[in-house]
Amino acid sequence: MAAFIVMLGPPGVGKGTQAKILAEKSGLAHISSGDLFRENIKNQTALGIKAQEYINRGDLVPDAITIDMIRERLKRSDCRPGAILDGFPRTPAQAEALKRMLEEFEDQVDQVPFITAPEAVLVSRLAGRWTCKAHGHVFHETFNPPRKNGVCDLDGSELFQREDDKAETVKRRIQVYLEQTEPLIAYYRKMDKLVEINGNQAVDEVSAELFQALESTIQ
Ligand SMILES: [Zn+2]
Repeated sequence: MAAFIVMLGPPGVGKGTQAKILAEKSGLAHISSGDLFRENIKNQTALGIKAQEYINRGDLVPDAITIDMIRERLKRSDCRPGAILDGFPRTPAQAEALKRMLEEFEDQVDQVPFITAPEAVLVSRLAGRWTCKAHGHVFHETFNPPRKNGVCDLDGSELFQREDDKAETVKRRIQVYLEQTEPLIAYYRKMDKLVEINGNQAVDEVSAELFQALESTIQ
């Protein structure tokens, strides 16, 4: 049997990075739904063209299209040992679709690591960037602060915050993720597949904890 892992975690927790490290260590394929969308759109596949129509209209891409993309991806040969899913499923309905899909291969989702960290930690990682108005030089209030608040070190221009870099915007993104994912977390917890991982540590410490928690699945 192949190993299938669904990675969950809010923005800023390092889920994508951990999925990549885990894929390299375990030999499982890494399926990032964001990358898969971009690939289908770039290659102008039938599904990519359909998805693009919805995106252009500002509409959500229907589940059926996303699910078909995932099914096609799971059939590629690199998924034979199994796969780490990152960004899909997002809802219990999608999780049910994934379950049926894997049943076609007589397989199932084995474990669902949920990487967590306090909101303040996520916000400090994602927010706090300041950009120079004249040349786009970038500073960070914690990790790379300018010598003088609000002024670019290199050319003296005014610094501003992009909408995406504001703490309020970042907090909202995190809250939306947690609210939307709550039913999915409950779904996998009920199936006894959820494993909580502490994301509030160094990258290699998180991956060590993750690897240990998944040991029985990936070996
Ligand atoms: Zn500048």
